[in-house]
Amino acid sequence: MENLILEIDILRNQESEGCETIKTSADQNTGNSRKLYIESYGCQMNFSDSEIVASILQKDGFDTTSDIQQADVVFLNTCSIRDKAEQTIRHRLMHINGLKKQKPELLVGILGCMAERLKSKLLEEEKIVDLVAGPDAYRDLPRLISQVDEGAKAVNTFLSREETYADISPIRLNSNGVTAFISIMRGCDNMCSFCVVPFTRGRERSRDPESIVSEARNLFERGYREVTLLGQNVDSYKWNSAADSDGLIEHNGHQIVTFANLLEKVALVNSDLRVRFSTSHPKDITDEVLHTMAAYENICKYIHLPVQSGNTRILELMNRGYSREWYLNKVLKIREILGVDCGLSSDMITGFCTETEEEHNDTLSLMDLVQFDFAYTFHYSERPGTLAAKKYIDDIPEETKKRRLDEIIRKLREHSLHRNKADVGKIHKVLIEGDSRRSAEYLQGRNTANKVVVFPKQQYKKGQYVNVLVDDCTGGTLVGRVVS
Ligand code: SAM
Ligand code: SF4
Repeated sequence: MENLILEIDILRNQESEGCETIKTSADQNTGNSRKLYIESYGCQMNFSDSEIVASILQKDGFDTTSDIQQADVVFLNTCSIRDKAEQTIRHRLMHINGLKKQKPELLVGILGCMAERLKSKLLEEEKIVDLVAGPDAYRDLPRLISQVDEGAKAVNTFLSREETYADISPIRLNSNGVTAFISIMRGCDNMCSFCVVPFTRGRERSRDPESIVSEARNLFERGYREVTLLGQNVDSYKWNSAADSDGLIEHNGHQIVTFANLLEKVALVNSDLRVRFSTSHPKDITDEVLHTMAAYENICKYIHLPVQSGNTRILELMNRGYSREWYLNKVLKIREILGVDCGLSSDMITGFCTETEEEHNDTLSLMDLVQFDFAYTFHYSERPGTLAAKKYIDDIPEETKKRRLDEIIRKLREHSLHRNKADVGKIHKVLIEGDSRRSAEYLQGRNTANKVVVFPKQQYKKGQYVNVLVDDCTGGTLVGRVVS
């Protein structure tokens, strides 16, 4: 059991480096002649987009493969959030270069944020690349591939104000058959000063709620039991079928669908379908959303609420639109409406431009007050073209950024352990996601607060809900046994 827990914690810590996660496409055999291999980097939105790409290309004669050696087309769906993410892609291209030498007809394409940021410059800098497509250009991939087949290089980095891929049924690439992601909006209008996303993913737009509900219903009918609604800022989801071209003006008699309304619609698909969402923005999350969460047992009691910094001056420089006090008051509201057991996680950046030691200590003291269950932590990486790169000097030495990051991670571990210990002795409703990664004799799933729970398999199966009495824990995992 000791080993089992240790292994799970290592995996969980790897997961915490959110933007370094990589997922590869799965094997699919529908009889199509060409093979597509996709490697997806970064955030969940990218993984979700790769499923849209696979769907578009399946209709164009491709099946996906998990083996790059079998591929006719290799796509890297990239992340630009930090410089390190882009360097990872450049190293990967060097490796793929070896493959292309053996198989010159191999088509290599770059998709996603790095494609959008660098556009045709990528073709000049990386000779191995044949195709560059930004996040709003995936419908054009069949044409771009034909162009490369005919001997030319191909680029489309047009950013759309309307594209939501609402009508495309994603092909689930890394699915456990139980949990799935549904993209509900694209782009971001927030312009946080450190962030490249508004430049790489374009203006914010919301997807038709009926297409979201029907995707959730379809997943439920196929045996899925949990959906996560995805967007860079889900709280600014807004749909008005009769709106003007910017989606802003409400016309007579037409109702606007807010994020709280959407949550309710998805929760009503079936009470056995769990609903999660990510990411919430502290300036936008409303009490209406919190009350909707409280009203439906199947809306999970977990909120990812990135704070970035615990200091108001730094938050202003980051253009986050809230103060330390505002954030702490939101947390109080969450605890008041959803209770102290509601899971709360965050994103934090250390060493943002001009951050003093006292201001860093404010982040640590905010953590003491909130006691997050989990967080993705980053040291600041200046991104070309962002407001911060234009206005401020990246003046905190790398070793200071990293030392501050270590302090934050250490505190985070203390808090996770403390929060998990409070769960010991309680019964948790767990949705089983599959075998524990360490041992086929154990299963793992999550409780409503998004905590991983591990327990002996017995006769239970993935996709089932079970009540688990937790009798042990680490900072990353709850361990117990099924009681009913
Ligand atoms: N939309 C989400 C929000 O506002 O919270 C976050 C999206 S971003 C893909 C994920 C996280 O990456 C951010 O919350 C931030 O902590 C981190 N991040 C973004 N830009 C960064 C940068 N330039 N350097 C370090 N971390 C960064
Ligand atoms: Fe980036 Fe801010 Fe938009 Fe999140 S809300 S994607 S951090 S600009």
